[in-house]
Amino acid sequence: MYSTQFLKLAYVQKAFQVTLIPSHSQKILINKTIGCTRFVYNHFLALRKELYSAEQKTLNYNACSQQLTLLKKEIEWLKVVDKFALQNSLKNLEAAYKNFFTDLKKAKNKKGVGFPKFKKKHRCKQSYKTNFTNGNIQVIENRLKLPKLGWVKFHKSQQISGKLVNVTVTLTNTGKYIATILCETEIEKHPQVTKNIGLDLGIKSYLVTSDGEVVNNPKYYRTQKRKLRKAHKKLSRSVKGSSNRVKARIKLAHTYERITNLRNDFLHKLSTRLIKENTIICIEDLRVGNMLKNHKLAMSISDSAALASLRASASWSKFVTMLEYKANWHDRVLQKVGTFYPSSQTCNCCGFINPLVKDLKLREWSCPSCSSYNLRDVNASLNILDEGLRILTAAVGIPDALNACGEIVSPGVIQAEIVEAGITRLEVV
Ligand SMILES: [Zn+2]
Repeated sequence: MYSTQFLKLAYVQKAFQVTLIPSHSQKILINKTIGCTRFVYNHFLALRKELYSAEQKTLNYNACSQQLTLLKKEIEWLKVVDKFALQNSLKNLEAAYKNFFTDLKKAKNKKGVGFPKFKKKHRCKQSYKTNFTNGNIQVIENRLKLPKLGWVKFHKSQQISGKLVNVTVTLTNTGKYIATILCETEIEKHPQVTKNIGLDLGIKSYLVTSDGEVVNNPKYYRTQKRKLRKAHKKLSRSVKGSSNRVKARIKLAHTYERITNLRNDFLHKLSTRLIKENTIICIEDLRVGNMLKNHKLAMSISDSAALASLRASASWSKFVTMLEYKANWHDRVLQKVGTFYPSSQTCNCCGFINPLVKDLKLREWSCPSCSSYNLRDVNASLNILDEGLRILTAAVGIPDALNACGEIVSPGVIQAEIVEAGITRLEVV
């Protein structure tokens, strides 16, 4: 019943990124808008802080919004810019407060939880968001119409299609103006497949799959590293306030931007392929504790490995986010496996737990119990796959899929049941 494959469509939100080519006056207005959103954010943050310390009832979004209308009557230059941008700035502040309070509830030690901070002109993301209503935003060919700005040209690299939702305009460190256009659009779902996979995210290689495929860390970082070092040196040697310093800073920002672009490209291609080829994808749960564990392991090998691990954790969480939303788009299942599950130490053949494998230098080992030969990462990814399927099976409750020892007899049955039940992700147990 799962063999007939029709092309299915999914209605999803998709972001299109384009580089804008604003005129001189448009650039000035974009900069002004970003400045105004920062002003509004900081103004209301100060107000809320004041009330908070006076132990009065704090201002919520609606109260802030009402006050903003009054503020605009007082401050003339707030009227010049896009009103949605200012409203969204208040929404961001509200979200920052909400995050702060949820973090506070969760945290055992209150010290590490950050209160919303004031936005600075430098070293903060420079952007504003505007919403679509009544045709205020339009895209025709290579031109984008934005509130107050009018028509702005952009470099067209892809077809932008779908119902417009919102647009975020960002000024990058390299002085580029980027528009991220969010649309509701239809995409073609990948055809159903019967394969499942386990992934072991590593330090030495980027990841190893339960099929035995090793995906190496991309080479771009090494090649860009020399350029990065040179750019850093140039910046630190330049005189403060000189035009050479400005040039050096832009050069450095360009190098970082290039690395980010290359990394995103790598992550997109990899996640798309894995989602296309597999139905159930099992991975380790990458919570902060787990990442720290990895850093410590890496530090025990070498300094460069520790650095690589720090870089990797940022890209891992991005990679998992991509897998998550792409799994949702294409009816795939992304199952996380608990932090304390000993995926590396367990022999996939017989289930024997070998404590010697804790040593990270041990890349391959023979099982003392069943004497099967295990490659560290492949064995781990096989275990992650089994554990993920076990969690899913237990949740769906298919008695036939497990034998008396709790081993999976028929992954195909589980997969069909899970897809049928519409389960996309289960909390790790
Ligand atoms: Zn064994």
